[in-house]
Amino acid sequence: MQLAQRMERLGTETAFEVLARAKALEAAGKSIINLGIGQPDFRTPDNIVEAAIKALRDGQHGYTPANGILPLREAVAADIRRYRNVEVNPDDVVVVPGGKVTMFFAALMFGEPGTEIMYPEPGFPIYRSVIEFAGATPVALPLYEKNGFSFSAEEVLAKITPRTRLIMLNSPANPTGGVVPKREFDRLVAGLEKHPSVAIMSDEIYGRLTYGSNPHVSLLAYPSIRDRVVLLDGWSKTYAMTGWRIGYGVWPKELAVQATRLAVNSNSCVNAATQWAAIEALNGPQDSVEKMRSAFDERRKVILRKLNQIPGFRCVEPVGAFYAMPNIEGTGLSSRELQSRLLEEAGVAVISGTSFGDHGEGYIRFSYAASTEEILEACRRIKAFLREKGKAAVA
Ligand code: PLP
Repeated sequence: MQLAQRMERLGTETAFEVLARAKALEAAGKSIINLGIGQPDFRTPDNIVEAAIKALRDGQHGYTPANGILPLREAVAADIRRYRNVEVNPDDVVVVPGGKVTMFFAALMFGEPGTEIMYPEPGFPIYRSVIEFAGATPVALPLYEKNGFSFSAEEVLAKITPRTRLIMLNSPANPTGGVVPKREFDRLVAGLEKHPSVAIMSDEIYGRLTYGSNPHVSLLAYPSIRDRVVLLDGWSKTYAMTGWRIGYGVWPKELAVQATRLAVNSNSCVNAATQWAAIEALNGPQDSVEKMRSAFDERRKVILRKLNQIPGFRCVEPVGAFYAMPNIEGTGLSSRELQSRLLEEAGVAVISGTSFGDHGEGYIRFSYAASTEEILEACRRIKAFLREKGKAAVA
């Protein structure tokens, strides 16, 4: 058998590998605390689950329009008006099986050999993977610890070349927990006005999960670039719905047609009952979202304090999503080695910063979507592990 060359360019998400290894260790009787995988540890709120059950009982089990049922796309438009204060035509919304699919479609639509697509680093690993799969050249936008893991607008603008087709951005961010301040977005947008052929994909899947003084800023809210912004969002993180597989893109008008063609050629549609559940998520009571957000906020404060008490660790305050990304250079271990030894020797699953690109060396990612007790125990185990390692080095 001979596979297409592009298969060699397809990357992966280490979080799933760490999850598999953690499960194997657990099955062998080891106690593992999983701060690796990025998903809420809450159950999907009952009203959403009930809406899906009702939809199935009502016979909603056939194909739907490839871009999603109209009441769902209308609910998305209303939600964007509510939380982003932006008017969106429901026809520009394309509902897909998860947030990831919009980034895949955007990479396929814009990327080909000879073109460049920018993406944040350290960043969600699938950005680079799908850019390379599409045959485009990935151009990393470094995010800096000293800036709270924001980018510098000047640096982004300076990397634009005649080959640049698309810039992928993500705020609030995985893996850093960083939120790009409004002034940096203002500067970026002002500069982008001079590059009218460059499109922007704004991954705002953690938009409802911010803490502290930097509120979420949507790139859809900038009129001067509105006709070339692709908004990526979904239900996975906000409503604890990672396994339901549903997300959406808001596309410039002519691209919504193209995204729908890609959907017709791949997934046909998102399963019907999930679409009805997603309507209930957006239109129903939002108190469970706030409950989850404030629980994450409590845990965020705990993990920040505890990580900064671990010798060799230094953690800037994460202000969005549910990740903390301490600098671990002071431990004397590489990120990959620390990831592997913490899992095997201390029973704590975390993800090496290098899983998010070369700029992630010197960092590891913690998902604090776990109970406070688990977070405290994980930090205690890490401290004990580093103490033992220190003793072994002296001996
Ligand atoms: N974008 C970012 C930044 C993410 O962290 C994730 C999931 O971890 C996704 C998109 C994908 O979300 P989904 O599970 O809805 O495909």
